[in-house]
Amino acid sequence: MTYLEVAVAAPLDHTLTYGPPERGSGLLRPGMRLLVPLAGRQVTGYLLGEVKETPPGHWKIKPITEVLDEEPLFSARQVTFYRWIASYYHYPLGEVIRTGLPGGLVTASSRRVLLTESGQRNLPGHASYPWVEELVRKGQLTPAVTRKIWRTKGRRLVKQWEQEGWVEIREEIRRSTTRIRTESCITLIPGSELPALKPSEQKTLALLEELTAAAGQEEPILRRQLSSLYSGAGQALKGLAAKGVVRLHEKPVYRDPLGETLAVADPPEHLTPEQSAALEQLLPAVRQQRFAPFLLHGVTGSGKTEIYLRAAAATLNQSRGVLVLVPEIALAAYLEAQFIARFGERVALLHSGLSAGERFDQWLRIARGEATVVVGARSAIFAPLSDPGLIVVDEEHDNGYKQEDGLRYQARDLAVLRARQAGAVVLLGSATPSITSYHHARTGKYQLLTLAKRIEDRPLPAVQVVDLRRIKTVSGYPPLFSPDLVKALKENLGRGEQSLLFLNRRGYANLMLCRSCGRSVTCGQCQVAMTMHKGRNELLCHYCGHVRAVSAPCPSCNGSELIGVGFGTERLQAELGRILPAARVARLDRDTCSKRRDYLAVLRAMHNLEIDILVGTQMIAKGHHFPRVTLVGIVWADAGLGLPDFRAGERVYQLIGQVGGRAGRGEWPGRVIIQTHQPDHASIHLARSNDYPALYEQEISLRRGLGFPPFSRLINIRIKGRDEQAVAGAARALAGYGKGLIRSGIRGVQLLGPAPAPLSRLRGNYRWQLLVKGIEVESLHLFCQRLVREGPGLDRRVMVSLDVDPENML
Ligand code: ADP
Ligand code: ZN
Repeated sequence: MTYLEVAVAAPLDHTLTYGPPERGSGLLRPGMRLLVPLAGRQVTGYLLGEVKETPPGHWKIKPITEVLDEEPLFSARQVTFYRWIASYYHYPLGEVIRTGLPGGLVTASSRRVLLTESGQRNLPGHASYPWVEELVRKGQLTPAVTRKIWRTKGRRLVKQWEQEGWVEIREEIRRSTTRIRTESCITLIPGSELPALKPSEQKTLALLEELTAAAGQEEPILRRQLSSLYSGAGQALKGLAAKGVVRLHEKPVYRDPLGETLAVADPPEHLTPEQSAALEQLLPAVRQQRFAPFLLHGVTGSGKTEIYLRAAAATLNQSRGVLVLVPEIALAAYLEAQFIARFGERVALLHSGLSAGERFDQWLRIARGEATVVVGARSAIFAPLSDPGLIVVDEEHDNGYKQEDGLRYQARDLAVLRARQAGAVVLLGSATPSITSYHHARTGKYQLLTLAKRIEDRPLPAVQVVDLRRIKTVSGYPPLFSPDLVKALKENLGRGEQSLLFLNRRGYANLMLCRSCGRSVTCGQCQVAMTMHKGRNELLCHYCGHVRAVSAPCPSCNGSELIGVGFGTERLQAELGRILPAARVARLDRDTCSKRRDYLAVLRAMHNLEIDILVGTQMIAKGHHFPRVTLVGIVWADAGLGLPDFRAGERVYQLIGQVGGRAGRGEWPGRVIIQTHQPDHASIHLARSNDYPALYEQEISLRRGLGFPPFSRLINIRIKGRDEQAVAGAARALAGYGKGLIRSGIRGVQLLGPAPAPLSRLRGNYRWQLLVKGIEVESLHLFCQRLVREGPGLDRRVMVSLDVDPENML
């Protein structure tokens, strides 16, 4: 008898052992999904492998209920990776795997309680359980309600009633929503004598023979292709099948997400000396097939992509896979086009711009080894490449690599880890590296590759800083369009050149004030101001998605007149229409472009010079290469400067560097206008002179002084719940226990807090946090583990989660 180790998609901190399914099944391989019994339910499990030791005899090992896949969705080698993640991020292994896999793949059973006829007559009223009334009224309880009851004493009551025959407990399996797609196909049965055929059948057969001959003898013909040629084919095919002339069957097909991609330039004939020098260091490491981390620090427009592409080609020559991570889906469009142009069919895409079905198909192509180059966003770090030899992380400093809910992983860090486990080269690229990565390069942990010049020695853009404190609202321009900016936009328009206007906020007005009481309209669930979206005529909470009508009265005083204050990208676009009516203005942000089709259309229009001014959020800030953009306006650089975060200075520098880097990438020199209320801010100064080493020195000495990363590691313990007292109490109890642990001898660990989080209320939850700082990883993790596992038993109304290496302290 073999025993199998299974991780279930449930919050359990250990794996489970099952036996093979009772009814015969095909080959069982690690990486397949299974349906397994757990505490009276059926849940999805992931097969990790065989159990080495025989479990103790008194345990009753249950068999697997069903094998859900015919082929593995991830490789046995990935199990090591998943295990490391589970332990480092203090997250259940099965949930780690579920997070890594494409969405919609969870199959589980759920219970429902149904009232029987006898129950209708006999069921006693039961005042203390409000759901009893619902059961009587509706005749049944939904799986959601049933699940809640199962966690309470009500469960025993329901079981009792089942014995009495008053209710029935029905268990149903909900299948995963994402599946392999198939299409109806027809194959000719090569054969002997033809039976007598009707005219329609003859016609269909003739068409089919023609198509088959054109496609090659082996290929089945798609039914819809045939039907598009002859509408009577459907009926005739039934006849042909009955007469044994054709075989009708289903064939798995991939949903193709690509459609058209962006146009790309031809590969350059010669590398620049800097590019050659970088590749001379990289390529030997690729050939040696060992772990080697590199930081590629290249100014914007220095030709980093060409380095990625050449390193990728060398890796494929070694018959190993390539993984390219991009922080943002709009930027993925630019990189994926280049990789597809170079490597064609071998490329797979994995990001949220694809539908769930498309993503699943891309995943299968990788798992089957059909695609060996993966371009994707954060979650593509889990891609099932069997043997990655190169992992590229473009714009490695970008905080889009940090997942901010559920499994709070940092994909850039995982890239380094996965490369180490796989013996691969990891290449982190950026014009404005994160302070931590640059520190690793300075101290020899990473090899530093530098591209200090733009291609063809093009100059970096000239930067002008506009002090918004001195700007009076002139001649009807709204306050955030300084005369300098308007003038520059006009000049650019006159020359037929393109401009980008960057503002890190969506919507029309990000603050709504009441005319009578002066208070701002905040979301009832979150203590944050709601943003007005004019196009939708709604106020929207950007944290929880809560919506209010614009015409609804002030929630504080019932006043009827609200005024919109402050700016968002929607307002910028509208104002531009007024100031520069002749300009063709487009907008790129999550409101206008959440789908691949939408942002590709905007990017293409930009490349085709059909847009004069592109307004947008960080979606326009990163990586794009628009040769005719010669002006970049940063409308309000201060957004972000006041944040209570030790990385704020670094972030502002990076943002200005990135957005500014979009200007002057072609033959025409570029300029950048930064509007700010804090022109003397050090980060703005340094960004203006493009002095990264000075920024690094400034930030690193700050962090050394405060003992922040990279001189320590952090774990933020987040405590939340709907009851304010319970949350605060839990935070204090945890902190008290932690202080005790430190007194009892855990060294090198420091506790900061507890304190309410800066966003102290979100989605109806009160939030507190407790920051743990440690010099050594091991003792820090041990400390947090003991704190959470052994610490004070917490109120059931409170949830505790760990944010390891937090990047967002809000
Ligand atoms: P980065 O990612 O460093 O900002 P890109 O990789 O987008 O810059 O390169 C900028 C432009 O330079 C692209 O149009 C690219 O095709 C071009 N380019 C790259 N390498 C060379 C080269 N060796 N010779 C000429 N053009 C090049
Ligand atoms: Zn909200």
